[in-house]
Amino acid sequence: MSGKLRVTLFITIMMLILSAAALTLILTVNSAAITDNPKGRLVNIVKDNVNDSDAFSNELEIEDIDLFRKGVFTSCYNESKELIVGSFPTSLETDFQNGIVSTETKEGRKYYIYDLYANGYWFRGVIDSSNESSLMSTILTLSYTVLPFLIILASIGGWLISYSAFKPIERLMAAAEKISDGNDLTKRLNMRHGTKEIKKLAKTFDNMFERLESSFEGQKQFTSDASHELRTPITVILAECSRTKRKAISKQDYISSVNVIEKNANRMLQLSEDLLSITRLEQGTVKYKLERANLSEFISSLIEEFRISDEKDISLTADLEPNIMVNYNNILISRLIQNLLENAYKYGKQGGNVTVSLKNEKDGPILSVKDDGIGIAKENIQKIWQRFYRASTNALQESGTGLGLSIVKQIALLHGCSISVQSSLNEGSVFSFRFPL
Ligand code: ADP
Repeated sequence: MSGKLRVTLFITIMMLILSAAALTLILTVNSAAITDNPKGRLVNIVKDNVNDSDAFSNELEIEDIDLFRKGVFTSCYNESKELIVGSFPTSLETDFQNGIVSTETKEGRKYYIYDLYANGYWFRGVIDSSNESSLMSTILTLSYTVLPFLIILASIGGWLISYSAFKPIERLMAAAEKISDGNDLTKRLNMRHGTKEIKKLAKTFDNMFERLESSFEGQKQFTSDASHELRTPITVILAECSRTKRKAISKQDYISSVNVIEKNANRMLQLSEDLLSITRLEQGTVKYKLERANLSEFISSLIEEFRISDEKDISLTADLEPNIMVNYNNILISRLIQNLLENAYKYGKQGGNVTVSLKNEKDGPILSVKDDGIGIAKENIQKIWQRFYRASTNALQESGTGLGLSIVKQIALLHGCSISVQSSLNEGSVFSFRFPL
């Protein structure tokens, strides 16, 4: 059942229930008035007049007879049925019958007549029957004519309201379908008309499409960059194989070819490992548990174990405040330190210094890796965190995958760290990570 039909049905049923309740209420509240039918009124008024005129006990007091009250005409007659007082709307022929309500029709109108004999006097009351249940008949007439009309009106109103309420949703659905059918995430709903809620809903959809678009774009870019990065070593390996097959003669030629192939295969291995790490970190496919432990001791042991083929004779120093307790993951922090130290050595200068420091500050423990190497140009500082970004010279570029700092960033974010980089060209760089308190 459609939403529109449901709303219409609901409104109609509610209208029916309300009408029935209102009718019941009116009938209950006015029951006294409704049950006051003309015959009852006639009998009561005639009896009142008999009592008020003292007909039974003393002398008849004519002036106390109510000749006309609530539609009832009362007249008084003597024993011989000669009129003493009173008048009627029309002349009536019905014979006197003590204590009985009789009916007479005259000139198309029906009258009720009631006679009472009291102590030698006849009292006759007459009432026009059109006085009958006037309230009741009004209510019934209203119920028969107005209520069905109101119910039809409520149904039409309900339909119109639900139609106008659902129309923008239908437009929204049509627009959203168009976007998903066309597979074009650059499109937006841009709903300018409609209620506040609909505009808000459309805006939420637009924001969602925007996020989806940027996420798909990022994914596309990542896949294309990764394939591009993998193609280079594969192309070199294939070219080397083809060259060796055609030209290699001596054992030396073969060994140098194998070296080229090995170097490029290692590069591919490094690249695929980095890609795997970054995907795991970003998508959270592997759950890394953080545990509270002594970070000072852990970093000290990492520095002691750190080995790198260093032709620049760089000295590595640790400046660690003891016993700093932090929530961290061993594997990830050792990867972070490894990547940062590799970069510090790679981009460090001959005979330079690299310092790893850990200090407790009032905003939280801060871990830094400082070098006095080639530094990063100001305009490139933001870009170094992007995947596959490499700002360095060609020779250095070849040795890196451009994913090292992206992995570092993901690890830092996973630990809730804020990251900062200070760097000046030819002076060096400091990478700092502030752990949450
Ligand atoms: P790569 O594998 O190229 O080192 P990274 O993601 O680790 O990839 O680094 C990205 C870029 O940031 C590097 O190519 C380099 O230009 C720059 N960079 C990183 N660390 C340093 C550093 N300590 N000194 C100077 N430049 C650096």
